[in-house]
Amino acid sequence: MSEHKATPGFSTHAIHTGQEVDQVFGAVVPPIHFSTTYAPDGIGNLRNGYDYGRAGNPTRTALQTQLAALEGGKHAFSFGSGLAAEDAIIRGLMRPGQRIVMGNDAYGGTFRLFDKIHSAWGVSNTPLDLSDHDRVASELEDDDATLLWVETPSNPLMAVTDIAALAEMAHANSALLVVDNTFATPYLQQPLRLGADVVVHSTTKYIGGHSDVVGGAAVLGSTAAADDLAEKIAFQQFAVGAVSGPLDAYLTTRGLKTLGVRMDRHCANAQTIAEHFEGHPAIERVLYPGLASHPGHELAAAQMRSFGGMVSIQLAGGEPAARKVAEATKYFILAESLGGVESLMNYPHEMTHASVRGTELAVPENLLRLSVGIEDVADLIDDLEQSLAGL
Ligand SMILES: *Cc1c(COP(=O)(O)O)cnc(C)c1O
Repeated sequence: MSEHKATPGFSTHAIHTGQEVDQVFGAVVPPIHFSTTYAPDGIGNLRNGYDYGRAGNPTRTALQTQLAALEGGKHAFSFGSGLAAEDAIIRGLMRPGQRIVMGNDAYGGTFRLFDKIHSAWGVSNTPLDLSDHDRVASELEDDDATLLWVETPSNPLMAVTDIAALAEMAHANSALLVVDNTFATPYLQQPLRLGADVVVHSTTKYIGGHSDVVGGAAVLGSTAAADDLAEKIAFQQFAVGAVSGPLDAYLTTRGLKTLGVRMDRHCANAQTIAEHFEGHPAIERVLYPGLASHPGHELAAAQMRSFGGMVSIQLAGGEPAARKVAEATKYFILAESLGGVESLMNYPHEMTHASVRGTELAVPENLLRLSVGIEDVADLIDDLEQSLAGL
């Protein structure tokens, strides 16, 4: 990173940090390094610390430098997927006999990882309503509860959790706070600045931003305690090797450069759609933190720059209506995932959250989750209107 006098703004960081002009050819866009191995300058004399591709790769370093700067952190580790990043965090920072306290509306794949993989290795979990602060505090008082896992806004119910309050609660009980910042992105919310110990991302979503690369990251701050935790996650990344490949790291870096402008448009489009469809006769409820009617509106306004691009709607006609609408849109493509430039429509009950049906994390059957893209918003409104008109 170069020596800036004033702290640069978000998009300046996104475009310049970790992106120094190439020293050999002057390439403005740093080259993608595919080499798996690096020749030392004589035995033991590594050039710039690189020896082998699992341990380190300059293209991955560029992405990690960029991610750390954008989260206001010091350490970032890039992985082959969001879940690989989550796994490195849990295995790096927890031991058998310890327990994760988590929101009961976490991403389905996160719960599946904790419940089906980590619990078999002795790390248990307690899903609960994170807005019930008394319950969270009482769980954290137990010595085995060493990690609090928060996702805000949550997926797909769009619940907003008070990061600063939960950080205080976790730390009062010697527990760590991990925040999944996938929905908000560092452009809208910076959990490390609010007291979180670790931020985790599925960079597959808004950060990559174009639905063409799977990846994940863990980001940590600059305190001595964070340095210790970072060392443990670094060791997982190195010793397990679920790293992002060079092309994936490059595509993610390219996505990050435009994150700010894309998020502005995602937020504006989502706000317009949420306001337009609130009160529509076919819709029972619109869940979007940018609406004054949303229970987390004030809190989101305080801890986020804006309200994001995800909107959930509950259909008055129940499950049949939700299924029909999901299959009748033209620009909203029926597909898993979120955060790309194109609008996507998801029926969580049977798609992203099918793995949590019948558990505490089950989602309503009349709910559709919209990932509002950056198309012209009038076209998106028309698209939803015509699909609702078919009910
Ligand atoms: C997609 C997602 C994940 C998992 O990330 P992958 O890249 O699919 O492994 C975790 N958390 C949230 C909120 C997500 O949306």
